[in-house]
Parts: sequence; structure tokens; C-alpha cells
Amino acid sequence: MLAVLRDSLEEVPEHRTGQNIRYSLADAGLGAFSVFYMQSPSFLAYQRDMQRKKGQNNAHSLFGVEQIPSDGQIRNLLDPIEPAQLREPFWGIYRSLEQSGQLDPYRGVGGTYLISLDGSQYFSSQEIHCPNCRVAVRDEKTYYSHLVMLAVLSAPGKTQVFCLDPEFITPQDGHEKQDCEQQAIKRWVERNAERFEPWQVTILTDDLHCHQPLCELLQKHEMHFILTCKPESHQALYEELFLLERVEGAISTKVVRKWNGRYHESWVYRWAEHVPLRGDSKTLLVSWCELTIRNEATDEQLYHCAWATDHLLDEQRVVEVVASGRSRWKVENEGFNVLKNHGYHFEHNYGHGQQYLSMVLLTLLLLAFLFHSILDLTSLTYQAVRRELATRRTFFNDLRALTRYLYFRSWQELLSFMYQRLDLVPEPG
Ligand SMILES: [Zn+2]
Repeated sequence: MLAVLRDSLEEVPEHRTGQNIRYSLADAGLGAFSVFYMQSPSFLAYQRDMQRKKGQNNAHSLFGVEQIPSDGQIRNLLDPIEPAQLREPFWGIYRSLEQSGQLDPYRGVGGTYLISLDGSQYFSSQEIHCPNCRVAVRDEKTYYSHLVMLAVLSAPGKTQVFCLDPEFITPQDGHEKQDCEQQAIKRWVERNAERFEPWQVTILTDDLHCHQPLCELLQKHEMHFILTCKPESHQALYEELFLLERVEGAISTKVVRKWNGRYHESWVYRWAEHVPLRGDSKTLLVSWCELTIRNEATDEQLYHCAWATDHLLDEQRVVEVVASGRSRWKVENEGFNVLKNHGYHFEHNYGHGQQYLSMVLLTLLLLAFLFHSILDLTSLTYQAVRRELATRRTFFNDLRALTRYLYFRSWQELLSFMYQRLDLVPEPG
């Protein structure tokens, strides 16, 4: 995976002029990546120290950094790099996972890959800003921010989620208006649809994007969709449902009783097909379904959500569509939440840059997050160590301390060291 990242960094065109080229762009990129990967703002400082004292260091052995640049040099080297130049590692890794069959269990309804597209703000400030910031003025104060549309692959019942390449929501060349999430989704779909087999992807989004232009765009690019569909924003669709409720059999229902370990839940699925997405004559007809979960004894409602989809629905398929639609919460939980609150040190002290730095750093951070997810999926040693050091925090604390004091020739040596010192034994079979 690191080789894939290095290759992309080495292909970035040199933006410096003159002879003073001591550090390579690849070293700057891999250096910043290592900080996110180790979840340690001080990782490079420790490794410079180790280099001075021992003549070798872990940034070199574990991440392939030939010479460790200073934070200031990293900032200057990465700032002019367009984030689009770092898209390839996401797809290189995706392709190798897919070709090796590792993604086979990661499928949702109808055997399709589920990809959630969600916008998120990853930076805001009243002072620090760059020309690519989004600017808002409220109460005579100026707010600067950066937004990104994350594309994340997930599957029902699976804990790991995988980042695909992000689309930044940022002023676009030749457009006067501020960029928005809708446009970012459109660019992402148009840019990437061809990477997938026709009709092998189902796109998931929130209610905000459950509208005809997006559905038509997805159909044009041979992608399915399951989009959260609320009554407030889909009046015509819910008026039709209201009428259908009076026609016997027009809305199908399926009830499943489930024991949750403490009490019985009643899962009520309802669905209808060929309902209008909007209220004019050119409306697209879609399938609609909802799930309501109640406590059987008290009748208390525990969960409710509804979706619009192009998948045809029957007793079996509606369960799959709902499970797939619901897997989007994991992207919030496992994706955004982990990125923001679990030690990736996004802000760190690299600063914001004057061109693309904040976007380049976020891209490297997402790659670190992706690499962790993939190790979790594919490496038995990593899985065993992570299981033993149950919390994320303990695992990374140990990693930070070990690499500060000891030199490891490779990841294999580092993980084997942890594995052995924790007295872990191979699982039978
Ligand atoms: Zn900015």
C-alpha cells in the first residue's frame, strides 16, 4: 500500500525551481502521512532524534522516508500539490482488494457495493484562511471553512468502512457561485462511475440529495440508489402513499419479530412501487420503503426511517434494501466520528497553507484511515494485536512509545514484536 502511495507522490510534477532540492516531494508526503498513520504529532521529531543518536530511524524503515523534512519544509512542499494528484492510491488499493476477493463479503442489496456520499466540514476558523476556503459572513463576522464530500464503502453487518477518493467542496474554476455538496456529488459520480461494472454500485445519501436530478444522473451512469426520503421534503410521494393506503394491497407489509436479548421487537416493513418522486408530469417513478421498529410489549417506537430506491421490492428484497440503507449510519459512526475524535490529529501544526495544503493533508489523513481499515481486514497479526489492546487509544499509545525508543526494520518486525510480547498465540486453523 505504501508503494502505491509513493508511486503517486513520485509522479507529482516538481513545482520547485533552482538547485535547492534537498528533500523530495515523496519524503514530504510520506512524512505527513506517517504522522496521521501513527496518530502522533511528534512522530517525525522523535525519528529525527533517533537518526541523530542511532544513525537509523523508523520513519525510514516503516514509511520509506529517505530524509525527514522539517514541518515547515513539509508545509512548503505539499502546499502547491493539487489534491487530485493523490486520487490514484485510493483506486489502486480498491482494485487490489477487489481483485483478491477481499471485498466479496462487502456487498449489499443485489450483490452491489454500497457507497455513501456525505458532506462534512473538516476545518473552520475566523482567522486562518486560504484562497480555497469557503467564506461566510454572519453578524459582521467572517467565517472560513473547508468542506469535503466523502465517499465511503460499507456493508451491512461489517465493522470496517473504506474511504474512496474524496471530492472537495471548493470554489471551482470558471464558476462564480460558491461550490456545494450537490455539485461535488455530481463531479464524483461523473469522474468515477466508469470504475465500476454497470449496475454494481448502490449509492446511499441523506434526504437532502433525494431528488430527481441526482436519481437521473445515477441512472444515466448505471448506478442504483437508496436515498433517505422524508415526508417534509417529498410531499407528492407521501400524498400518493396516503391515497394508496386506502387501496387494499397497494402498500405491502411484512412484520418480523426479533428478540434483542432483553425484549421482543416488532419490525414492520412497508413498501410500494412506482410512486412519484415529485409533483409534476415529468416525475421519475421510484420504489419506496420504510422500517418501523417498536418494543412489542410497550409499543414504544425505537426506530423509523424511509427510503426511495430504484431497486424493485418484494418480501425478500425489501429487507436487503433496508439493511443497506441503514448501513449508512456506520459511515457517520465509524467514518466521520473516528476521523474527528479518535486521534488522527488532523489540525496538527502544519498550518493551513496558501494553496492546497489543507486538502492535501486531509487526503493523506483519509489514506491513513483507509490503510488502518485494510490492515484490520487482511492482516491476522494486526487483528490479533488490535483485539488484545482493545481500545484504539491503547494500541496507538503502544505504537508511539515503541517507535520512539526502539528501532524496527519493518512493519512485520514491529507487529511480530507486539504479538510475541503480548503472548498471543496463533488461532487454531
Ligand atoms: Zn482554506
